[in-house]
Amino acid sequence: MGLVFLNTFTRKKEAFAPLEPGKVELYTCGPTVYDFPHIGNYRTFLFEDLLRRYLKYKGFSVVQVMNLTDVDDRTIAASRKEGIPLSEYTARYSKAFFEDLKTLNFDLAEHYPAATEHVGEMVEIIQKLLKDGYAYESGGSIYYKISAFPGYGTLPHFKPDELKAGARVAADSYEKEEVGDFALWKAWDEKDGDVFWETPLGKGRPGWHIECSAMSMKYLGDRFDIHTGGVDNIFPHHENERAQSDAFAGHPVVKYWLHSEHLLVEGKKMSKSLGNFYTLRDLLTKGFAPPAIRYALISVHYRLPLNFTFEGMTAARGALERLYDFQRSVKNAKEAREGVEVGHAIHKARETFEQEMDDDLNISGALAALFDFVRETNRLIISYGLSPKDKEKIGEFLCKLDSVLGFLKEPSVSIDLQVEKLIAQRNDARSQKDFARSDQLRLELEKMGIILEDTPQGTKWKKRL
Ligand SMILES: [Zn+2]
Repeated sequence: MGLVFLNTFTRKKEAFAPLEPGKVELYTCGPTVYDFPHIGNYRTFLFEDLLRRYLKYKGFSVVQVMNLTDVDDRTIAASRKEGIPLSEYTARYSKAFFEDLKTLNFDLAEHYPAATEHVGEMVEIIQKLLKDGYAYESGGSIYYKISAFPGYGTLPHFKPDELKAGARVAADSYEKEEVGDFALWKAWDEKDGDVFWETPLGKGRPGWHIECSAMSMKYLGDRFDIHTGGVDNIFPHHENERAQSDAFAGHPVVKYWLHSEHLLVEGKKMSKSLGNFYTLRDLLTKGFAPPAIRYALISVHYRLPLNFTFEGMTAARGALERLYDFQRSVKNAKEAREGVEVGHAIHKARETFEQEMDDDLNISGALAALFDFVRETNRLIISYGLSPKDKEKIGEFLCKLDSVLGFLKEPSVSIDLQVEKLIAQRNDARSQKDFARSDQLRLELEKMGIILEDTPQGTKWKKRL
């Protein structure tokens, strides 16, 4: 059947065919660098990471652009409140953002352009929109005339009476924005302090939406394959971007629009006032490891709301432990002669994984295929063992899946933690009178150079010198 995406523009599942065979150009709206991104932001960014990784798994070369919004109402207000220059303020949060990407094992995009470095490109687009009758000046600011763009409202699927042509909106805190002509260029006012550009359009700064039109077309050209974001970007941000870019280019610029659903926390919208607002750093402080956070945020289909709960985090941790235990069992499996079972199990799992991912990135189905494989192979390990060749095949298969999932490699824990964990497992085995298992664990510890001593006060250990 091949790869299929649900296109927000048509609300239909469409077969994916890139403009240029073998190559995918992808634009993903990035963070506004005025604070640490919250886990709802990371849900969207991780969906995009999964998309990118799966496209690469399918053999496409990918060029991804993720912009950084480093000038808008919020960044300016926040930097002025602290009394430091805008660039100094946003640099702090850009740095934190890239640290987070590393923590969560993102496959990095090819370009991370910053808005403040592309004001010239924005001015050029606005000049053409003015010339072609899509924009007008009022009080030193420049607005986009939505009535000049046929089909405005198509992406968010508005009904005609939901449009208010002629009403003007200047804010770029998008939660507050309403349907209406929106600002492309904002004349300087006192609130902006020393943040302004002197341009042929006058003294001022760009609106938020024009940033993405300028940076997407600069790096990807005026036709590209996929544009993504969270559902709250559909309107006004993406609809306004579409109106700007398509009017500028004279034809549709984006072929497929993909949007991820909201993240809820314990069933409620995340908000600082409800006390259920979490950044990545908050979860790390609570003791959750990055792969478990990554797992929890990508394991629900991107088109479904994700209800983030601490119970769910614990389940994610358990699921990962099963996957890591499995990899250890493969490594330690007793030697057996090569059979056909492992090859068959891999074949079946790979096929299902790909079928599910091809179907608009159905990650839950893809993960089910992985866990079925683990269960089946564990049964083989217990009954027969594995041949060295089979171990190698399993390793390669998991490595291939991990190029998509990004959480199958167990993070290296300090030797103390690892030893404590193995000792706890050995004590469990002993109390269940599973002496074969407890001997196996003792051997494993010995191989690590750990000497055990069982005392009435519990098991003590030391490292062999
Ligand atoms: Zn954007």
